[in-house]
Amino acid sequence: MSQKVSGVKGMNDLLPGDVEVWQHVERTARDIFSRFGYGEVRTPIVEDTALFVRSVGEETDIVGKEMYTFDDKGGRSLSLRPEGTAPAARAYIEHSVGNQEPLTRWFYMGPMFRYERMKTGRYRQFHQIGAEAYGSKEPAQDVEVMDMVVQLLRQLGLSDVSLNINSLGDDACRPVYQARLVEHLRGHASELCADCQKRLERNPLRVLDCKNERCQQIAGAAPNILESLCEPCRAHFDEVKRKLDALEIKYVVNPRIMRGLDYYTRTTFEFIAAHPVLGTASTVGGGGRYDKLVKSLGGPDVPAVGFGLGLDRLCLLLKESGQHFGRPTDLFIAVADEGSADVAFTLASRLRREGLRVEFDTRGGSLKSQMKRADKVGAIFALVIGEAERQSGQAQLKPMAGGEPMPVRLDELANTLRTRLTPA
Ligand SMILES: [Zn+2]
Ligand SMILES: [Zn+2]
Repeated sequence: MSQKVSGVKGMNDLLPGDVEVWQHVERTARDIFSRFGYGEVRTPIVEDTALFVRSVGEETDIVGKEMYTFDDKGGRSLSLRPEGTAPAARAYIEHSVGNQEPLTRWFYMGPMFRYERMKTGRYRQFHQIGAEAYGSKEPAQDVEVMDMVVQLLRQLGLSDVSLNINSLGDDACRPVYQARLVEHLRGHASELCADCQKRLERNPLRVLDCKNERCQQIAGAAPNILESLCEPCRAHFDEVKRKLDALEIKYVVNPRIMRGLDYYTRTTFEFIAAHPVLGTASTVGGGGRYDKLVKSLGGPDVPAVGFGLGLDRLCLLLKESGQHFGRPTDLFIAVADEGSADVAFTLASRLRREGLRVEFDTRGGSLKSQMKRADKVGAIFALVIGEAERQSGQAQLKPMAGGEPMPVRLDELANTLRTRLTPA
């Protein structure tokens, strides 16, 4: 026997059964986002490595440790995208979208790649749904994108998710906070993990979202960023809160929400799930405002705000909820004798052309094994075709859930099924 080849660690296959859950989330997201006027953008999975170094930031774990980076045959350094905001911004700039419209609303969904330590709901190929709005610096835009996530989660029936918000300030006030933070951290420098000792000099904010337990304790006692906001940042944050209140969206102000990426300014937020299936790793998504990113990538000076949601985790939560999303088979056609196989096969095809979901066992086999399969695939009705049915053009339509079989004419089967399948 040949040796089998396994899939890559941390990259999963999705099989029918699970895929229906994913499709349900994707469909729901497309529906909700379109209500807000967001159009779908699809960018390549591979980008120039420099894009992520310049946007996500060289000092982040994502760029420093987790990217799948390789040289192509032309010697260019390319990376599998570790997130979706930078590629979308790159496309926005490349197509001069800002020249064509002052306010742009995009969403995306697809796989992202990070070479991470694996835990529940976290994979090396993971999937995100995200949205970006370019062109508005107003708090209303921040709240609009949060509202979109809230409505999506609500529509999916995921109510145990809390919205945490924070502000990271801007160029005017963040340096002031950073200085205070560094002062605090220097007092504990020797206790910080090796990574954070480096971060302390180069990017001290990053220490606040280090996963190391001792680092977290030290960060817990650090000065609160919200107390360092300048007046315009304070007013922006207050307005975000006022608008969330007006929409009756519940939130928690949490000064520890840093988001781990370099490009955020002012508002940041995370959606945190309380479900035990995710263990301690419970953030299902988050985002924030990134007013400097587009310009820093060589584009116009355009403010922006967006979010990303972990599709893997959302689907995990949804699967736990025990809801079913697959569409059942309308009819299973079984054959009583080999001579009826052609008629049954043709009938199945004809009904499918009429839009019905019909299954037929191409292997033939005993009537008993065929009916077993009808049960297994969850068919709503079954129909047996044999010599008598062929002769009379009539058959018995059997409800698989039980109940009396009903006589049907084969040439009126499509109509009969449609009537029976439509709930009264
Ligand atoms: Zn640390
Ligand atoms: Zn400020």
